[in-house]
Amino acid sequence: MLDADFFRRWMAAATASVDREAERLTDLDSAIGDADHGSNLQRGFRAVATALEKDAPDTPGAVLTLAGRQLISTVGGASGPLYGTLLRRTGKALGDASEVDTAQLAEALRAGVDGVMALGGAAPGDKTMIDALLPAVDALGDGFAAARAAAEQGAEATIPLQARKGRASYLGERSIGHQDPGATSSALLIATLEEAAEG
Ligand code: ADP
Ligand code: MG
Repeated sequence: MLDADFFRRWMAAATASVDREAERLTDLDSAIGDADHGSNLQRGFRAVATALEKDAPDTPGAVLTLAGRQLISTVGGASGPLYGTLLRRTGKALGDASEVDTAQLAEALRAGVDGVMALGGAAPGDKTMIDALLPAVDALGDGFAAARAAAEQGAEATIPLQARKGRASYLGERSIGHQDPGATSSALLIATLEEAAEG
């Protein structure tokens, strides 16, 4: 079972991963965006880490809801409200249970991804974070390692796509041939579930 501690470890691991990979995320965003994706998420997840240290919410749902709120209020770019919505909606779907299982997390994450699609209007294949998140949610029933592999594959599969949402869509065909920064950071977020499970 996954308790509030697991979700705090997940957010801490995500913060560390974003810190390690910030330069790569910004490089990807400099190719098809405005070179701020790494710094946007770094600022957001550091605020998440600080808030979780101060507040220590005691249910899985409350951890993710607080994290989502921080991302929305601290990240200026498109990715802040989108990731914030992902975590808030996932947190809300987990309700006030003190522990959840992987199937419940998968179901809640699906509600979160639905929230991201409703807010941003992106569908699968539009070269956005959805292209990593949706395959990860589909694979989560087979465990965290499967979700990680699916998210990484989904992120790589954005390379030949033309962007149809977000800043990269302004480039039209010139967005082809580059990996989407948001799909790449989504794969990092999903990969850190496995780290959190390892303790
Ligand atoms: P900005 O584009 O405002 O500079 P970021 O650089 O932080 O914001 O984030 C860019 C990423 O956000 C993109 O790579 C893409 O994955 C994601 N994104 C942008 N718009 C959308 C959208 N409408 N739906 C889903 N994801 C989106
Ligand atoms: Mg950007």
